[in-house]
Amino acid sequence: MARRQSVPRLEFEAAAIYEYPEHLRPSLEALPSLPGVYVFLGESETLPLYIGKSVNLRSRILSHLRTPEEASLLRQSRRITWTRTAGEIGALLLEARLIKEQQPLFNKRLRRNRQLCSLLLKDAQPQVVYAKEIDFAHQSGLFGLFANRRAALQALQAIADENQLCYGLLGLETLTRGRGCFRSALKRCAGACCGKESLEAHQQRLMAALAKLQLTCWPWKGAIALKESSEEMTEYHIIHNWLWLGSVGSLAEAEALSRLPAGFDHDGYKILCKPLLSGEAEILDLTDRL
Ligand SMILES: [Zn+2]
Repeated sequence: MARRQSVPRLEFEAAAIYEYPEHLRPSLEALPSLPGVYVFLGESETLPLYIGKSVNLRSRILSHLRTPEEASLLRQSRRITWTRTAGEIGALLLEARLIKEQQPLFNKRLRRNRQLCSLLLKDAQPQVVYAKEIDFAHQSGLFGLFANRRAALQALQAIADENQLCYGLLGLETLTRGRGCFRSALKRCAGACCGKESLEAHQQRLMAALAKLQLTCWPWKGAIALKESSEEMTEYHIIHNWLWLGSVGSLAEAEALSRLPAGFDHDGYKILCKPLLSGEAEILDLTDRL
């Protein structure tokens, strides 16, 4: 192994603690070098200033001095609290939920999920459909997740631009009977609207582009537990229809959670898709057990 010159950990920590505003230093003492979610609290005990997560709470919080915005956060903070999790997945889930519930001042504003939509093919044409109208956890043939209708149509337009698809055939603009679209004259549309290419070839390129965005239906009958362990603790994350219902320390506590109603959740989908489908995590199907 190559020898690296680095500042010894204790020296780094001492320097970092010294740079911290004095009134916050007592909060730093008991910080564990373990995964979890942390909260910077200001004057209000109920409205946090900032919520973050890390696989190493101690080094993450000590490194919170890098930008002027962070300096301002530290000045306004009175106290730092944290919640341990078994690992990164638990930290991501808890962070997303707390930020959504509490909307801290210093976190980037989160999209609201009320207009969450996707693209669904109807008669070979992509249509914008909404999560509040269709069950995104079980509807097959959905492509992409978008914050609103405009974002969905922009994504479709970008796909059309990249693949020389026809805005007219995609429903993005109205075609005049017997005439190619405006973009076909500019060679930006390959001409499926005016016989320069077949509708099948057009459809094939559309499907190939959309395939990259395809959503995965919830692959289990009901709720599952995703086991996450570290040397210090084990958590079972209870999940149904891509919604995180909560985490428990043992499967015996899972039953009540697993019976909660569960609709599709955007954050859950984003955080959990990879770990649940990679085959690397230990997953217990709760419908077989309860
Ligand atoms: Zn066209």
